[in-house]
Amino acid sequence: MSRPVVAIVGRPNVGKSTIFNRIIGDRLAIVEDKPGITRDRIYGTAEWNGIPFSVIDTGGIEIDGEDAILKSIRMQAELAIEEADVIVFMCEAKSGLTNADEEVAQILFRSGKPVVVAVNKVDNLSRMDEIYEFYSLGFGDPIAMSGSHGTGVGDLLDAVTVLLPEKEEEHYDEDVIKVALIGRPNVGKSSLVNAILGEERVIVSDIAGTTRDAIDTPFERDGQKYVLIDTAGMRKRGKVYETTEKYSVMRAIKAIERADVVLVVVNGEEGIIEQDKHIAGYAHDAGKASLFVVNKWDVVEKDDKTMQQFTQKIRDHFLFMTYSPIVYLSAKTKQRLQKLLPVVQHVSEQHALRIQTHILNDIVSDAVAINPPPTDKGRRMRINYATQVAVKPPTMVIFVNDPELMHFSYERYLENKIRAAFNFEGTPIRIFTRRKT
Ligand code: GDP
Ligand code: GDP
Repeated sequence: MSRPVVAIVGRPNVGKSTIFNRIIGDRLAIVEDKPGITRDRIYGTAEWNGIPFSVIDTGGIEIDGEDAILKSIRMQAELAIEEADVIVFMCEAKSGLTNADEEVAQILFRSGKPVVVAVNKVDNLSRMDEIYEFYSLGFGDPIAMSGSHGTGVGDLLDAVTVLLPEKEEEHYDEDVIKVALIGRPNVGKSSLVNAILGEERVIVSDIAGTTRDAIDTPFERDGQKYVLIDTAGMRKRGKVYETTEKYSVMRAIKAIERADVVLVVVNGEEGIIEQDKHIAGYAHDAGKASLFVVNKWDVVEKDDKTMQQFTQKIRDHFLFMTYSPIVYLSAKTKQRLQKLLPVVQHVSEQHALRIQTHILNDIVSDAVAINPPPTDKGRRMRINYATQVAVKPPTMVIFVNDPELMHFSYERYLENKIRAAFNFEGTPIRIFTRRKT
């Protein structure tokens, strides 16, 4: 299910990333603790009044030359109009309303998208008069806030969440596997889509004005229904997307959100670079099943060790996704292509796997017997029982005497034992520790 998207736009230094971090709170910090994930913080998820949504910080595009600020904020606005359901237009009290603000307001206004104006750096609440001039932008009541003090964030989210659209209906039946292909430009995503569909054709033409709607391509193979998510986005060679890594990432993220299985496509000819890692990290964080597709295998000079070496390279780079299988193929020659969909089907099944409570508990008890939880200041964690509470991804809750005593390394140990027993190939699993009540 796709979450609605909130984008924050505004001039540099008004406090967009400060507010963004306040909105997504601790969540991202936890994610970034995991080894192997590095990224710029531009995208996060949050929940307010029980409504989940995604947040994009559109800041940080660097454009040189004349009118740099104006150009970059225009670009942000364009992106926000295209991708977001609600736009937070951030201004600041200190500098007041500027020409750049007014110009962007016009672009946003014409788009017809819901906009909330936030006036940041109102650090002193006795200075509320500072926000009055922002009424003239025509987007209703401006929200006074201070990123430094954390005030006004709740007011902002109240204003935003009432404007969010109702949840999108899911178009596909339960038994359809939704597949997203992600990867850097030129790794061969579109070629692979064509190869999978088995015909040379342009998937979609870029029709002006239709970019907002993702175009999906359904097909059926060996009795299994699939749909390729957002094949339009892959075709989109817009300036915004091509010039900035961040924005091709953003498009990919939206496809990931809607998918069951994510194909992380890398270029076998060029190897792996940092950018591949960023994109793959989102599939992991979003709890999706995934596999690596090493494309262009036809042009790689090979001996009997090449595949093993490349596999090692992937494992070294993607430490957080050692569970994902790797498929080597060529979209161009269709070599090994027939291996792909069975793996997609397999990881999709693993993603939806449900383990019976008594079987799970046997595994956890055995793990504890072999290696009891370490003591912490003389106290030892006791595990009462474990149960799987969700699928896609498989999510376990472990009930203990005191969750504070659960250490990251011990959780890892239990995860490894659970994986060893049930495999869960191609899917992240989540483990939560709760106090037994
Ligand atoms: P962005 O470029 O719009 O993402 O802005 P940043 O979030 O990076 O903030 C720019 C600067 O403004 C940083 O030095 C922040 O510490 C500061 N800042 C952010 N929010 C506030 C605020 O509410 N009050 C004050 N006085 N400074 C703030
Ligand atoms: P995308 O940007 O990821 O969608 O990549 P494209 O599908 O547009 O492919 C980029 C380039 O790589 C094109 O010139 C393709 O012909 C080429 N290409 C794609 N797959 C393969 C492959 O398996 N082998 C070789 N040799 N070239 C490929």
